[in-house]
Amino acid sequence: MAPEMTTLKGKPFSRAELDGLLRRTLFYTPSFEIYGGVAGFYDYGPPGCALNANIVDLWRKHFVIEENMLEVEGPMVTPHEILKTSGHVDRFCDWMVKDEANGDILRADHLVENVLEMRLKGDKEARGLVHVEKEEDPKKKKKKEKALANLEAKKLDDALVQEYEEVLAKIDNYDGAELGLLIEKYDIRNPATGNPVTPPTQFNLMFHIPNIGPSSSLYGFLRPETAQGQFLNFAKLLDYNNHRMPFASATIGKSFRNEISPRAGLLRVREFLMCEIEHFVDPEGGKKHARFHEVADVKLNLLDRDTQLSGKTEVSPMPIGEAVEKGIVDNETLGYFLARVQLFLIQLGCNPEKIRFRQHMATEMAHYATDCWDAELQTSYGWIECVGCADRSAYDLTVHMKRTGQPLQVRERLDEPRTVEYWAAETNKKEFGPKFRKDAPAVQGAIDALSDELREKLSVELKEAGKITLDVPNFGDGKVELTPDLITIEKRTRTENIRTYTPNVIEPSFGIGRILYALCEHVYWSREGDESRAVLSFPPSIAPMPVVLYPLSSHPDFKPLIARLSALLRKKRIHFAVDDSSASIGKRYSRRDQLGTPFHITADFESVQKNTFTLRERDSMEQVRATEQEIVDAVVNMVNGEETWEDVQARLPKFEGQAIEEGEEERKE
Ligand code: AMP
Repeated sequence: MAPEMTTLKGKPFSRAELDGLLRRTLFYTPSFEIYGGVAGFYDYGPPGCALNANIVDLWRKHFVIEENMLEVEGPMVTPHEILKTSGHVDRFCDWMVKDEANGDILRADHLVENVLEMRLKGDKEARGLVHVEKEEDPKKKKKKEKALANLEAKKLDDALVQEYEEVLAKIDNYDGAELGLLIEKYDIRNPATGNPVTPPTQFNLMFHIPNIGPSSSLYGFLRPETAQGQFLNFAKLLDYNNHRMPFASATIGKSFRNEISPRAGLLRVREFLMCEIEHFVDPEGGKKHARFHEVADVKLNLLDRDTQLSGKTEVSPMPIGEAVEKGIVDNETLGYFLARVQLFLIQLGCNPEKIRFRQHMATEMAHYATDCWDAELQTSYGWIECVGCADRSAYDLTVHMKRTGQPLQVRERLDEPRTVEYWAAETNKKEFGPKFRKDAPAVQGAIDALSDELREKLSVELKEAGKITLDVPNFGDGKVELTPDLITIEKRTRTENIRTYTPNVIEPSFGIGRILYALCEHVYWSREGDESRAVLSFPPSIAPMPVVLYPLSSHPDFKPLIARLSALLRKKRIHFAVDDSSASIGKRYSRRDQLGTPFHITADFESVQKNTFTLRERDSMEQVRATEQEIVDAVVNMVNGEETWEDVQARLPKFEGQAIEEGEEERKE
C-alpha cells in the first residue's frame, strides 16, 4: 500500500464531508435517534463494528499476545467502596460553569479554550490571514447568532494574542480557581447567549447506580476505567504467573464517564470501549525493561512539560533510547510502552507525522499518577489524546491493601541475605488496643501501609510536634491522631532473606473510539481530478471489509463463479461482500473505496471462458489478472500481512483491460 495515501490528496479536507460519509455508510450513528437521541452515545453499524473489531484484534495481538499479558475481564458495575478507596468518588471530577441567565451548563476549560480560540480566529481574519466561514444554514444561524458575533473579524493587541496562545498551550493545567480567574480576566461568557457564567464548581463524572440488588444498602457506579478490576486481582494474577515479576494484565471493556459536554462525535462520549494494560514492575532498579533495546531507536515526537510551561507546542523528534537516557521520559518501562504504542498506531494506518506524545503537567495529572504521557493524534479538532500512558506508582495497590488488609505485594527470595535499614513503627499494645477497640485493626492497617519514606518523616514530626495524624478510611472523620505513648517510630536494621515490596504500575490506556475516528481522518482523501470520489485507505488487515466480489453484470453465467470465489474466501475466514447491484462496475468500485475496501475481484466474460479474474487495488486502481486460486491466495496473503500489493503485482500478470473506473466510464460516454 503506498504510504503517501495516508496524507490527504485531492481537495482540501472537509470534516463535514467525512462525517457525512461515516454516518451515511453507518460507521457510526447517534444512539436512540428515533426517540430524539441522547448526547454522548453512538451506535456502530456494520463497517464501524468490523473496523472496531479489527482494531481490537490488532491490539490483542500487538500487546496481549506479543507480550504474554494476562487478560482479565470484570464487571462494569463497581461497588462504591472500591471507587471510594481508589479516590474516584472524591476526585474524578471536571470543572463546570453555569450560564447565569438560562442555566446552560458548560465545561469550564472547554469554554475558555473555545472562546480564546474563536477570538484568535477573528484576529487572524482581521489580519487577512484566514477566511473564517460563517454559518449558512438559517436554522443553525439563528441558534448561533450570538456565537457568530464573537467570530467577527476583530484585531487583537499583539501582547494579548501571545497571552491567549500561552493560556491555550497550558489549558489542561488549570484548576477550578485558575479557570475562574481566566474567565473573569478575559470576560469570557457563554458564546451561545453572551451571558456571564458562574464561578467553576466540581462535577463527578461517574454514573451512579443507586442500588445493586433490591436492597438499597449496596450501591455503586459504572466503572470509569477498567484498571480497578485488574488491581483487585493482583494477588491472584501474581500467583497465576508463578510469582514472577514483572508482568502485565490487560482488559478490553466498556467504561463510562458522565461527560459535562459530550462533543466532537466519537471523541468525547459517555460510554466507550477501553483497552487497558497494567504493567506491574519492581520500583527498585530504575524500572528497567528487558526488551527496551528492541525499541530504543524508535523515534517519537515528544512535547515535554517544560516546553508547554514556556507556552510553546513544538515537538522534539527523538529516539526513545535517548529520551530515557536524558531523563525526559522517566524510565525504560514507560519508554518501552510509548514506543510500542506508536508502532501500534502506525500499524493501524495512522499517519506518523500526526502522532505526538505530550507529557502531562503536574496539576493536570490524575490523582494517582506520578508521570504521564499522552499519545495524541492530530485531527481537524486539534491534537486529541487517544492513549494515556501513566506511571501510577504504587498508589492503587497501596490504597486497596490499606483498606482491605490483603497483601497486594510481592515477596521475593533473595539469592544472598542482606542487611537493610528500615523505619519500624511499633504500637504500644497496652494503650493502643483499649483506645481504638474494634477499630484497632483498621488503624494498624494504616500504620502497616506507611512507606519507609513517610515513616522517617513521621518520626521527626512525632518527636517535634508530639503527635502525628494518619488517614484511616471509614474511621470517624477519616483521620487518627497518634501520640508517643501509642506509637514509636525508629530506625532499625534487619537481615532479610525475603524482600517484600509493592509493585509500581505503568498503565497504557487506549480509547478505541477516539483512535477509530482519528484513523478515519488520517486515511481519508479524494482522487485528484475527480474530487467527488472519496477514499478511505485503511491497511488491508484493518479495513472493515477487505474484499468485495463483483459480477460484471447480472448475466447468469457469473453466478457460479461468484459462488466458487465466495466459498474459497469463506473457508479462509476472509470478511467479504458481493456487490451485484446494477450500477456500473466503476460506480461500484467507487462506492466500496468510500468504505475503505482495499481489494476488488471482478468476474467478467473472460472469467467464464478461462477461469481468470481481475483483482483491483483501491489506492493505485491498478489490476492484475490470474486464476481463481491465485487471486484468492494473493488476497489472503495481503490481508494477513504476508505479502504487499507490490509483491503481488511483481508475480501476477498486470491487467490492462478496458477502462472501467467511474470517471473514465463517464468520459467514454
Ligand atoms: P484517561 O483515563 O482519562 O487517561 O483516558 C484514557 C483514554 O480513554 C483516553 O486516552 C481516551 O482515548 C479515552 N477516553 C477518555 N475519556 C473519553 C471520552 N469521554 N470519550 C471517548 N474516549 C475517552
